[in-house]
Amino acid sequence: MEGAGLVGKRILVTGGTGLVGRAIEKVVADGEGQPDEEWIFVSSRDADLTSTTETKALFEKHKPTHVIHLAAMVGGLFRNIRYNLDFWGAGFWGSPPCRSEKSLHPQRRNILINDNVLHSAYETGVQKVVSCLSTCIFPDKTTYPIDESMIHNGPPHSSNFGYSYAKRMIDIQNRGYFEQHGCRFTAVIPTNVFGPHDNFNIEDGHVLPGLIHKVYLAKQTGSALTVWGTGKPRRQFIYSLDLARLFLWVLREYDEVEPIILSVGEEDEVSIREAAEAIVEAMDFRGELVFDTTKADGQFKKTASNAKLRRYLPSFQFTPFRQAVKETCAWFNTNYANARK
Ligand code: NAP
Ligand code: GDP
Repeated sequence: MEGAGLVGKRILVTGGTGLVGRAIEKVVADGEGQPDEEWIFVSSRDADLTSTTETKALFEKHKPTHVIHLAAMVGGLFRNIRYNLDFWGAGFWGSPPCRSEKSLHPQRRNILINDNVLHSAYETGVQKVVSCLSTCIFPDKTTYPIDESMIHNGPPHSSNFGYSYAKRMIDIQNRGYFEQHGCRFTAVIPTNVFGPHDNFNIEDGHVLPGLIHKVYLAKQTGSALTVWGTGKPRRQFIYSLDLARLFLWVLREYDEVEPIILSVGEEDEVSIREAAEAIVEAMDFRGELVFDTTKADGQFKKTASNAKLRRYLPSFQFTPFRQAVKETCAWFNTNYANARK
């Protein structure tokens, strides 16, 4: 979107084809962009950000003044357990390391992507970068609620140590670029995100898109819905379109280098069972719900405080969880043929 001769900010969104990127694109297209903003949404087709050369070329081509950095190898609990090393990003240089065909994600390596993006942003004089952490990177053994000061206070949950440490290093780099070079590079910390354009792959995706897809199939075959684990773990879910609106605010108005948690309140945390029930209702599923307790529960909870966000934006309205689930299920039903699955 380009204003009539008013362009002051050229905003490059890496990961622009993903769940969060598509939500930002929609919010901007629906009228929340500003006349002095030009938005550029890119994917791995525009540049493989694990490649320093391709990343530099991307920045030289678009000359962004601002960057929202979303690109990452992303996955739910079970994909993280399978590919912890790949989520970190080691073993990419030189001769092929010892790895099986299945652990090969040569274009999806988080530490490389983040380093290339932040350094290219520094080298090309980008005024502000907003990167994306996640509440699942916090210490496993901690007190609740988690807040922004606690990121580095202890090891993350073992199920996603690769992803977590790669993400934590963004915070280290942001502080370093600020201290040595005065760069305004910051990060947001969303809780579990869901919405249209999510990855609905059952093996690789997160819990809500996975369960929505499972219900869709169970309705077709008349079978039960199998929820993995005990259903007791608790999560705070944020609708991608709410997160997108918050991203616009952070880009325009949040000036700290310290990250900020973007989350619904602690009182809005739900169990996996309750989340599954919301999907059952939204999809009008009449079958049985069973829990496969041979599957991992992962982190029991990662309850985050949104007190800092509330100090800045006391009246921001989150979409009610059940309404957002309904909208996401409706999107999936309508777009089944082309959805990522
Ligand atoms: P997503 O739907 O999986 O999308 C990932 C995006 O990254 C896609 O646009 C993909 O491009 C791009 N990408 C991946 N590898 C790339 C590479 N090597 N070079 C260039 N682009 C690459 O992810 P998402 O759920 O929107 O997540 C966005 C951000 O939010 C991530 O940083 C993630 O860690 C963070 N986050 C997500 C959640 C969640 O629940 N989903 C929660 C907290 C934080 P292609 O389309 O070309 O593959
Ligand atoms: P996490 O929040 O980072 O742990 O990742 P997920 O979004 O994958 O959520 C994992 C939680 O949901 C665990 O407690 C799982 O046992 C539970 N769960 C239940 N059914 C599913 C499913 O079909 N897919 C996934 N990914 N998780 C499920």
